[in-house]
Amino acid sequence: RQAVYAALRDVEPVSRDGVRVKVMINAGLREDMANLSLTGADGIGLFRTEFQFLVSATLPQRERQTRLYRDVLEAAGDKPVMFRTVDIGGDKILPYLRHDDGEGEENPAMGWRALRVALERDGLLKVQARALLEAGGGRTLNVMFPMVAEPWEFDAAKAVFDGQLAYLRSQKKLLPEAIRYGVMLEVPSLAEQLDLLAPKISFLSIGTNDLTQFLFAADRANPKLAERYDWLSPAILRFLRRAVRGVEGSNVDIGVCGEMGGRRLEALALLGLGITRLSITPAAVGPIKELIGRVDLRAIREAMDGWLDSPPENMRATLANWAVERGI
Ligand code: PEP
Ligand code: MG
Repeated sequence: RQAVYAALRDVEPVSRDGVRVKVMINAGLREDMANLSLTGADGIGLFRTEFQFLVSATLPQRERQTRLYRDVLEAAGDKPVMFRTVDIGGDKILPYLRHDDGEGEENPAMGWRALRVALERDGLLKVQARALLEAGGGRTLNVMFPMVAEPWEFDAAKAVFDGQLAYLRSQKKLLPEAIRYGVMLEVPSLAEQLDLLAPKISFLSIGTNDLTQFLFAADRANPKLAERYDWLSPAILRFLRRAVRGVEGSNVDIGVCGEMGGRRLEALALLGLGITRLSITPAAVGPIKELIGRVDLRAIREAMDGWLDSPPENMRATLANWAVERGI
């Protein structure tokens, strides 16, 4: 694998019409950081902070969290890291963090998870906010919140960070030089309120794994449904097109951090939707960078717009033909 990574490490993801696309990787552990230099990726577009919680027997204390975040930032050097606050609960059960009534949930993916847990157990979010703010001292810190369904949830989460920031300032601690706040778009209801959210955030990361399961009401963990819904379905692509349009004209940097972006035709479709920041699994970085180098963004955007206005019978086959005809 390392040899394959090395061969494509220095490929610049510049489209044929000269657009530099950002190709980042998803990570969650210290060990993942080596993939940055191995793949030549532009940064960590999704750092899943819950991994530290999942591999711990007890709730990670603040100092341990701070140490991890600091190590990750050091390892990333000048490249950005987008830290996602904990997405636990639901199916990612922590034995030391029990649901109040101790009961399992019938629909954990749609249940008490992520920001819903963090806002209720706000001690959890306070500790994590302090750890991130301290670790980001003297740097730019990127923070994003998972499973935001309504803009007020972003406000509430950011207020926790503001409170910790004020505390650190009063203690004369070294603060981040800049803090960029972002939100995951993975709950469809948020897409209807992007205009309200956009002025408050710096970036939006589309989590296509959860978004797809909610859009189709299809459990992402159920193998019986895995073949049933296609990421290239007009339902998803039209949804994404609306999301892209929803933040157009604002300063929101929009990207995709779900698995969809790591597949060739899916990545091509995302480029066609105007998305120029992908965060993907490390093994996909080289192939996707190569793909980008062969694509004329203007051409795929125009084609995609037409296909979405009047969808072909088989979007996957249509995209594949388009790519083959152009030697992509
Ligand atoms: C997603 O839902 O697409 C995502 C990137 O987050 P996760 O896979 O961690 O739920
Ligand atoms: Mg998700």
